[in-house]
Amino acid sequence: MANQALTALAFMRTRPEIARPDVQLFFNPVRMDAEIWFPLVKPSQGHMLEAYVELLRPESRGEVTLASTDPAVAPKILLNILDRDEDLATLRRGVRMMRNIYATRPLADHIVRETYPGPDTQSDNALDAYLRNAAEIGHHPVGTCAMGTGPAAVVDPQLRVHGLEGLRVVDASIMPEVPSGNTNAPTIMIAEKAADMIRGRSTVDAV
Ligand SMILES: Cc1cc2nc3c(=O)[nH]c(=O)nc-3n(C[C@H](O)[C@H](O)[C@H](O)COP(=O)(O)OP(=O)(O)OC[C@H]3O[C@@H](n4cnc5c(N)ncnc54)[C@H](O)[C@@H]3O)c2cc1C
Repeated sequence: MANQALTALAFMRTRPEIARPDVQLFFNPVRMDAEIWFPLVKPSQGHMLEAYVELLRPESRGEVTLASTDPAVAPKILLNILDRDEDLATLRRGVRMMRNIYATRPLADHIVRETYPGPDTQSDNALDAYLRNAAEIGHHPVGTCAMGTGPAAVVDPQLRVHGLEGLRVVDASIMPEVPSGNTNAPTIMIAEKAADMIRGRSTVDAV
């Protein structure tokens, strides 16, 4: 715990022809399954580092729908992750990129063996099975009140709810799709810009 978790990140394109990164690679110098070590009572677990591949631009779409007309009742949330085969294909390319990085010196000099999914997990099917079992969500849901002008848009480019007077939505839900990165800073940017729009100031005036 003397070090920060996730000390290094890389935003990568898994295909050269795409314009923006589609995966984020995480380097974690600690093992997340670490348990308290009691010398002489319980053996140390040994050193391990972890590396994760995060899908930045998922094709799969989930949905949030009302469960009841009572506003106090929680909505129904369907994440629907890994619904589209393209998402698994991107993750597979990400895992293979990660393996190449760790097989390259000088990093390779520190690697004894791959623990998970393990060197035997090479085929597309084997990797898919591992990914479906091991995947976790990245907590970056967006788009349930997507900004836009089309029939599916909830708010206009000034973040005003279509068809209602005097109501704006200002949060991560207005992003039309997941950005190529984390969502906290873009949400703050949305809020800063919305504050200017509500006050009738241009962003240039604010600067
Ligand atoms: C575990 C976790 C880890 C994350 N890690 C990162 C990260 O490392 N980097 C990154 O960029 N992003 C990260 N995110 C994503 C980031 O936190 C969100 O994208 C961002 O907070 C979204 O902002 P928001 O304003 O849309 O929603 P929120 O931050 O969720 O704000 C919604 C607010 O509304 C309040 N609220 C809800 N209901 C009501 C109500 N009825 N009345 C009044 N108030 C209400 C809530 O209390 C909350 O304060 C993480 C998210 C999670 C959950």
